[in-house]
Amino acid sequence: MQNIDVPVLIVGAGPAGLTTALFLARSGVRPLVIEKHKSTSFHPRARGLNVRTMEIFRTAELEKAVLSAGEALAKSRYMLFVETLAGKEIRRVPDEELMAGGELLAQFSPSIFSQCAQDELEPLLLAEARRYGAEFRFGTEFVTLKQNEEAVTVTLRERDASKLETICCQYLVAADGATSPVREALKLATVGLSPGDVQDDGRGSLGNFINIYFQADLTTLVNERWFGICFIENSHLEAVLLPVNNSDRWLLNVSYQADKVTPADFTPEYCLKQIQYAVGTDNLPIKILSILPWQAAARLVERMQLERVFLIGDAAHQMPPAGGFGLNTAIQDAHNLAWKLAEVLQKQATSPLLKTYEAERMPIAQVVVTQAVADLTAPTPDYLVTPEGTSPENEAPSWGDETEGGDQDIEGALLEQLRLILGYNYKSEAILNESENLTQPAKFELIGIPGTRAPHIWVKRDNQLVSILDLLSYEWVLLVGSDGQTWINAVEQIKKKSNLPLAVYQISGAEGLKEITPDSWTTAYGVTSTGAVLVRPDQFIAWRIAAFDSSKSPLALLEKVLQKLLVGD
Ligand SMILES: Cc1cc2nc3c(=O)[nH]c(=O)nc-3n(C[C@H](O)[C@H](O)[C@H](O)COP(=O)(O)OP(=O)(O)OC[C@H]3O[C@@H](n4cnc5c(N)ncnc54)[C@H](O)[C@@H]3O)c2cc1C
Repeated sequence: MQNIDVPVLIVGAGPAGLTTALFLARSGVRPLVIEKHKSTSFHPRARGLNVRTMEIFRTAELEKAVLSAGEALAKSRYMLFVETLAGKEIRRVPDEELMAGGELLAQFSPSIFSQCAQDELEPLLLAEARRYGAEFRFGTEFVTLKQNEEAVTVTLRERDASKLETICCQYLVAADGATSPVREALKLATVGLSPGDVQDDGRGSLGNFINIYFQADLTTLVNERWFGICFIENSHLEAVLLPVNNSDRWLLNVSYQADKVTPADFTPEYCLKQIQYAVGTDNLPIKILSILPWQAAARLVERMQLERVFLIGDAAHQMPPAGGFGLNTAIQDAHNLAWKLAEVLQKQATSPLLKTYEAERMPIAQVVVTQAVADLTAPTPDYLVTPEGTSPENEAPSWGDETEGGDQDIEGALLEQLRLILGYNYKSEAILNESENLTQPAKFELIGIPGTRAPHIWVKRDNQLVSILDLLSYEWVLLVGSDGQTWINAVEQIKKKSNLPLAVYQISGAEGLKEITPDSWTTAYGVTSTGAVLVRPDQFIAWRIAAFDSSKSPLALLEKVLQKLLVGD
């Protein structure tokens, strides 16, 4: 037997690594995270958090902290097109992607879309992961690895020292970003996913960019036109300006042609000039905080698991920032993987469960990367809002437009987004699928089908209003209705025999959770009052039975279902 130093080693303390660490630690496994930098990201990078990511933060009791950290960006609701910020405004359109969601979204989720710059988000995840027992070594870099059936042996180096060190772990999570040294060490190839009509370099690269992070008080120039993204086009510059805190911290995103310029050409003096071209004045105090070169790409790794190593986030898939999916997909990968690793390490499940990570996340990554490329090349909406209101020659909907058509267009756009963000469907051995549903169904609906995210309904628990999703995390949950006593007994019996984290909630029974709307549970989950729905620790439905069959023992049936899901036979 090999000596194991840590159960899980995570390489990279970006959003993917931090989220894996947090969810593992909350599930009782203490991982070690190594990060080559001395701290989490100084550069803000991603800001858009979609509703599924916010639901995941809600299960980690971080939703309020994230909303509050991103409060300054909550008002950013426009795409703005200008020659310069101080100069001519070309047009202004509402950006559905930055919508909080309103009443329509509230039908599907207790959470909302939000924004929080990555440099503010990461310390929140770090502090919480540490609080639950995850360990971190900053300034430590992954060098190489070798693995066998029992363990992974990793060579690391403290960046300030030349001495190499080895650590042995049961599983390794590669959360080391787009250039993933772990992926390189495993010799895993990536496949470009750009469609034929998008220019790339044949390997999925879609262009080179420099992100200039700077400090300047732009509030007077913004003049209440709170934008999530501002496109700048003038004779000197084509660039994108992004708010970080909507007052004195901003990002200027400039593209460059790698055969003509290199990142080294973007000196602080040159970057200052680009900012001045963007804002349209050279009379403003500006301090450059950091300059980050990056490459937009559409790539997917050929495998997301190789024996004991799992690739998550940008290490597994890269996508252009359009649509804001990169960070969100990274966090959702982490959430999918963490509970599976925890249950296998705690011997509640066996290793075949781990294979379902790739089976479930690879098709989703493929769809999301393709969508991000489509978003990159999609035209911006052609309706516009001038500072005075909707333009007379263009009567299409705007934010303030109460017309029926306007509402429908915005609702349609939101539903289409939700199809991708909440409506996807997992197919794997960890789901007892009822039918051959598509990964990405044609229509967005959450109706309790195994493989989909459990539908959200409000219920009362001890007189407190809670989303049913709030009861579905870190353990398996059997949801039963008012005539579900036999299922409750079955769960009690299983709990006596096993250490599986398993709970049962009865909805609308004498003592159970109280529905706010009569029959909302049976309707939303597609079962009767004698039926049952088994939900995984990541809030996805694993199995359901519409009605209790009195000829079968619920205990035997439930044991068989769990055996199949957790052990694979
Ligand atoms: C300008 C820009 C804007 C973006 N906007 C959005 C957006 O609005 N919404 C969105 O969802 N996404 C956006 N993204 C993408 C988003 O930032 C990434 O998808 C996200 O950071 C991926 O998280 P990750 O944890 O997988 O990788 P990373 O954040 O890249 O983290 C990887 C970590 O691994 C560390 N590491 C690398 N090598 C080693 C090694 N050898 N040893 C130890 N540690 C190592 C790195 O230092 C890093 O901290 C944007 C990206 C950029 C560049």
